Amino acid sequence: MAKKNTKKIRKIKKNHSWISIIILILIHSTIGIILVAFASAMMTFFVQNKANSEYDSVRYLALLYDKSVKEGKQEEVYSQLAKSGHDYLIRDNAGNIIYKYGNDTIGKNRYKLVSDLIIINDDEQDMNIDVDYSNDMYLYADSENNYLEFEDGNVEANMKTILKLLYPIQRKDMKNAVSDAEREKIIRDNLRENDKAIKGIMGDDRRYTVHLPFWVAVSVNEGKEEFIAKAYINFAMQDLTYLLVFIVIMFVLIVIVFITMIINIVSNIVNQRKVVKLLFTDMVTDGHNKTWFIYRGEQYLRKHSTAKYNYAVVNLVFVKYRNYCMCHSIEQGQKLLKKVYNMIGKQLDKKEMLAHIADSNYALLLKYDDIDMLKMRLQSMILQLEKIEQEHTFSFQAGVASIDVMKNENGKVLRMKNVDLEAVLNNACTAGESLATGYESGVALFDNKFVEDQRWVDKVTERQRYALEHEEFIVYYQPKYDPGTDKLRGAEALIRWQNDDMGFVPPGRFIPIFEKNGFITEIDHYMLENVAKDQKAWLDRGFKCVPVSVNISRAHFIETDLADQIRDIVDRVGTPHEYIELELTESAFFDDKKAIINTIKKLKEYGFAVSMDDFGSGYSSLNSLKDMPLDVLKLDAEFFRGEAEGDRGEIVISEAIKLAKSLNMRTVAEGVEVKEQVDFLAKQGCDMIQGYYYAKPMPKEDYVQRMMKE
Ligand code: C2E
Ligand code: CA
Ligand code: CA
Repeated sequence: MAKKNTKKIRKIKKNHSWISIIILILIHSTIGIILVAFASAMMTFFVQNKANSEYDSVRYLALLYDKSVKEGKQEEVYSQLAKSGHDYLIRDNAGNIIYKYGNDTIGKNRYKLVSDLIIINDDEQDMNIDVDYSNDMYLYADSENNYLEFEDGNVEANMKTILKLLYPIQRKDMKNAVSDAEREKIIRDNLRENDKAIKGIMGDDRRYTVHLPFWVAVSVNEGKEEFIAKAYINFAMQDLTYLLVFIVIMFVLIVIVFITMIINIVSNIVNQRKVVKLLFTDMVTDGHNKTWFIYRGEQYLRKHSTAKYNYAVVNLVFVKYRNYCMCHSIEQGQKLLKKVYNMIGKQLDKKEMLAHIADSNYALLLKYDDIDMLKMRLQSMILQLEKIEQEHTFSFQAGVASIDVMKNENGKVLRMKNVDLEAVLNNACTAGESLATGYESGVALFDNKFVEDQRWVDKVTERQRYALEHEEFIVYYQPKYDPGTDKLRGAEALIRWQNDDMGFVPPGRFIPIFEKNGFITEIDHYMLENVAKDQKAWLDRGFKCVPVSVNISRAHFIETDLADQIRDIVDRVGTPHEYIELELTESAFFDDKKAIINTIKKLKEYGFAVSMDDFGSGYSSLNSLKDMPLDVLKLDAEFFRGEAEGDRGEIVISEAIKLAKSLNMRTVAEGVEVKEQVDFLAKQGCDMIQGYYYAKPMPKEDYVQRMMKE
């Protein structure tokens, strides 16, 4: 198979789904990461907002306490601080509690709080601390509620996590405040907010509120004491709902997109499988087609290149399938093709292949040990196929081309690794075509002669025009003699091809090729013109000329103005018409009868004699004689060949001569080589003999000698 086609098939077969899957996963994980990042940013924003007010309120309390210490009125401030609702305590540097309000649930873990960020423990080395800080504030994890705890008891995150969430704490408002009064106002406002939140915790909607207790320590009294108050990060469930709804919607969307894409990928895979199947399926038989045969066959042979069998490709043709379709219907024809396909399929081994490659053609890859056995196998297969339908007998022609194998010294088969199955199939078709001239069943094996023949055809076709233009075609003359008197009565012009490279080529080697490619019409004109010229020259020189016949090919008869063409050619030279005779081969009479009769009549009108060549070699010679107003009947050389069947052969010849006579036709016997035949023909009244007995076809110089002898 052509590399280009193999590539195309591979491309179609290639599955790109894994790329889609990778892209799908990448897209979804990216969306997931973005979603998580977004959610955590939202959380951070939430917690930070909530926590800021807590810090500020504790700071405010510490400020109140600090102020009262400076004024020496700390006893008065205790009750005032208690009203804030915060549990709090005051410790000196030694750790002794100076005053305590509420429960002391302060934890052991102490976290240092700086103005803009929180440092989590000292051992958390990885955190950046590059901000200016004042070391007057600390956080303590609450020993009882070290975790962020929901009301239903779900523990969500520990203190560290929450502290991470708090980082960095924005306190722009505080920083921007220019005076203590302004700062105090901000803290007061925050405190009010905080109170509301605490009320929320204590009130009925506690159930829906998340609250995280922790302790905030602020250094007071010029660093000699520490004011530590219990604070809460509070947020109602409601606050989280929007976030939660958003996340859920996003999640659902992602899942929907994911499922859609998966469905898409799966359907792509399914479709691609269907396409591959279609690529390899034959619509008529539902079996395999040529693409499959070539592609899979080559694949198979590559894999089994050392298998012990020989393989051959067979092109099996259902002869006259089109006629069957014409008489019945295309549908019935196709049904029959399918039936044939199935019948062949049943006779194949697992290691063999079958495909329906065109309307009436099947391709088979068969294994064999002995080529003659394979031939017999095919013949018996054909015998069965011929009777596939009771009421008909069909015929099948098989062309066989074997796949070359070599054997190494151990007798192991070494088949070519890369078999071009298309080329082998082509050879099988070529072999089959050699049977196609007939309609009978048969099996033909391909051999290299087919290749040589084709090369010759190409060579001839390639050179024909050059040869014509350079006068490589030569006219030979074969005299015709009167057997009674041995006098020269006529001649036939026969073509020869003389070429430096190819030597002397007889017409049988190129005339059939010219007939097929149409060049024959130019050859016929060339011969006619040359003969006319020769005759004219000889007449001018005063020779006693006899009529010379020129062969007109059957292919030429399609042209309706043939008679006029002939007349014009001869008239251009100026040769009297009675010196030119035209030979029409018998097979030409099967074509358009009317047209042929017309041409013959015209030729006769113009004064040319017309003869029927090769009479007796065809099928309906007698029938043709009935309608054609011919002048000469040329008995085919076959009458004088082979084992003489005594009287029977002679009877046929003498009756043919009699028949011609009664139709007012002269007779010429062709291919006569022996004296007895000449005597017999003379006795029967045959007018002329053209044969080796008298003369072989000869160059014009020799023919001139013959004329001069007369
Ligand atoms: P054809 O027209 O039947 O020519 C007679 C052939 O029989 C010639 O073969 C001739 O050499 C051969 N022949 C004659 N007498 C004898 C004999 O006693 N014994 C044997 N064995 N053969 C004899 P040739 O010249 O090889 O021509 C073969 C065919 O090629 C011709 O058969 C004709 O069909 C065709 N052909 C030859 N020249 C031309 C031409 O100029 N135009 C066309 N259209 N066909 C031509
Ligand atoms: Ca002839
Ligand atoms: Ca002949």
